[in-house]
Parts: sequence; C-alpha cells; structure tokens
Amino acid sequence: MTTNQPLIPLSQAKAPYFLGVDVGGTNIKIGLVDNGGKTLAFKEIETLEPDGPQAAVARMADTCRGLCAAAGLDFAKIARIGLGTPGSMDIARGLLIEPPNHPHWHHFPIRDALEKATGHKVSFANDANAAAFGEFWIGTGEKHASMVLLTLGTGVGGGIIVDGHLINGVNSFGSECGHVIVDSSPKARLCVWGGGRGHLEAYASASAVSAITIEGLQAGANSSLQAAYKSGEKISARRVYEAAEGGDKFALDIIDSTAVYLAIGITTMVHMVDPGLVVLGGAMDFGGHNSKVGMRFLNKIRSEFKELTFSNVAEGTTIDFATLGGDAGYLGAAGIARDDYLKLGLR
Ligand SMILES: [Zn+2]
Repeated sequence: MTTNQPLIPLSQAKAPYFLGVDVGGTNIKIGLVDNGGKTLAFKEIETLEPDGPQAAVARMADTCRGLCAAAGLDFAKIARIGLGTPGSMDIARGLLIEPPNHPHWHHFPIRDALEKATGHKVSFANDANAAAFGEFWIGTGEKHASMVLLTLGTGVGGGIIVDGHLINGVNSFGSECGHVIVDSSPKARLCVWGGGRGHLEAYASASAVSAITIEGLQAGANSSLQAAYKSGEKISARRVYEAAEGGDKFALDIIDSTAVYLAIGITTMVHMVDPGLVVLGGAMDFGGHNSKVGMRFLNKIRSEFKELTFSNVAEGTTIDFATLGGDAGYLGAAGIARDDYLKLGLR
C-alpha cells in the first residue's frame, strides 16, 4: 500500500517539516509532511502486534529516519512528530490503555518511547481524531473553522474540531461520536465495542450493517444476497453495497436505514457543536461520490437531517464525504504535530 498523495521533492517543500505516524492493527503508515501538508516521502510498515510495542516503536523510528534520508532531509530538521493510535488511551500521559486490536501493547507509554527513540517531541492523538484533523487541515474541512468527522469502518470513530481546536476530553474520550445514543429503547442493539445499548456504532458501522443484513436474511428477506448467504459467503458491508448497486431492494433498504441512524446521531452532534460541516470518512462509503448508491446514502442522510433539525441549521450545515481516504490519519497526525509546534515551539 502506498499513499494517494502526490510526493513532492524537498526543493518544492516548505519548512518546518513534520512526521505523521498512524498506527493501525495490521499496518503503520508514516509520512514526511511539509508545512503546507504536502507529502515528501511515505512508507507503510507492518504493525507486527505480537512482537510488542517496544519493537514497533524501534521500527517506527527507523522508518522516520529512512523517510528523511530518502527525501534528502537532515533528520535533526524535523520540527515535531505526530502519533495517532487507536484507543483506549490516556492522551495527557501519553499512554495506551487497552486498545482492543493491540492486546500485547496494553498500558504502554508509547509517546515517551517514540520521543526517546527519535530524539524529537511527539504529539499524541486518538487515530480517529488524527484523521479528523487531517480532513480539517487539508481535506474536506480545509475552508472551515469547525468540523465533525465520522469514520465509518469496523466501528464508528469520530473527531470534533471547534474553532481549530480538537476535542480530546478529560478522559481522552472526547469526540467518540460512535457511542452517541441513537436508540434508547430497552431492545436497542448492543454496541460492538463494550456492550452499551443503542449506540450509533451498533447501527452504522460496517460490522453492524453486516450483522443487520444477516439477521434480515435469516428472517427470510427476499434478496439476491440469500443465495450468497446460504452458500456460506461472508456478507460484509461491501457485499451489501454490491447487491444495492445491482438494484437489490433489501440491500438498498439496509443502506437507507443506516443513513437514518446516522442522521439521528449527526443531529445530536450538530445540536451540541453547530460545526457547519459534517464529514463522513472511513471505508464504508457505499461507493462515495462516484456511485449512485453512495450518493443515495449521502442524500438520505442529508434529507433525514433536514427533517430533524432547525431550518436555518440545515441550511448552514454541509454534510459530505471525506477526501483523504486512508491518508487522513498520517496527514492529521503530522497536522497535530504542526499545530503543537506553532503553539509550543520545540517544547
Ligand atoms: Zn458504543
């Protein structure tokens, strides 16, 4: 895997320079980024989770040095490094707590370890917040002062930026938009993560879409997916999208209902923050702007939101897809490092 960003040579780049590190369960994306958000060099390395965090930090530091060497930049010229990891975490103390996909990394002081391994200051962020900051800095949110990002993937992540300030919260739980309650009934679906009831993530994540579809098929829904399901094929959100593209009414209904729950969650967030912009990122975009189903999904969210909010708020709020894709995390981590550097200097 590589970045979708065009790589620019050092001669065209603007100082100061930052490194953005985006830690995932399988891979770690690292980019060397200039002051304008342009990428000079990029590498994706394996997480190798079972080898533990110390070994991964050593490989991150090596890759950071390697990217600078590849771009012809002295590693000492790096102004700051940004590091995004999945929660749970303690941002103020620089600690991972118990990230579910990193069982061997629990309670590890990853920020300080990376500072020690690189000799540079490290800004630490939740991965979804980093992705939000990427979209805010140079993506869909570029021209906005505030923004809410929802990432629709295995779970539903989020990031909230108010007047340029990322909301981390007192317990490093700020911006966890996936756990907003969209159904308070006692029969509401259980959250994929942690067992809370009625959370947005239980209705609008890729895992939820897959689970809801399978339940419908088991109940005898009339759908082209029945044959696939009965033959043992995995019914992923992607598979639901493909069926919808083929005109399958059951699949289209599932996507419409996903949009309705998202609109409920979005309304809650907008009524708290009034950001003017809500961005949908993550892998589950049902084809995005370039697909009929993707646009139906987006327009359904927009029309439902319009029903649920005040007319002036509906008019003054844009809801749209993200633009940076899988690059948002490393770019945002670099952007957060830049933001801290501009505020703090080399402290
Ligand atoms: Zn939840």
